[in-house]
Amino acid sequence: MYCFVQNNVDILPSGPCLIKEGGYRGWYLENFLFSKPEQISSLIKNDDYLEDYWHALVSASNQIDILIDCPFCQERKVQYFASVKNSEKIPDYFISCGAENCLSELKLVSGNAEILPIRLSTLIVLEKFEGHALSSLLCRAWGINRYADENEIFKFFFKSDRSFGSAG
Ligand SMILES: [Zn+2]
Repeated sequence: MYCFVQNNVDILPSGPCLIKEGGYRGWYLENFLFSKPEQISSLIKNDDYLEDYWHALVSASNQIDILIDCPFCQERKVQYFASVKNSEKIPDYFISCGAENCLSELKLVSGNAEILPIRLSTLIVLEKFEGHALSSLLCRAWGINRYADENEIFKFFFKSDRSFGSAG
């Protein structure tokens, strides 16, 4: 169960997170994850509700299974990627599981690029293009359609039934 605290009350999200103020009024926080990740940090910075909801999304996302095998050992699932500056695409071999050998390989092939976790929480520390690259990788890793709408994304994160989605 994923709940978050608002005004000292535990809230279980019951639907997608509507943005009620500012330039993105009427959008949902879910809409930003895979299409405008570079906006998330400024959205949540001055809004406690959005920030709490973001943390609920992050903790829910940490429970989602990753489907991509490590290209180096082909035994474990990937956990890390090499971030390429100003690129919207992460090459297929710029990802690795958490094993020391595989991470060393990743550092070698990526020319010592920055190695970061394949996590939703990583999105908000990235610049625009790198964020888009990670969004696309997360969709592939989780098997969710990048163009899913806010209700589909909400269900994917907070409900156990993930059967609606397909990678694409
Ligand atoms: Zn590996």
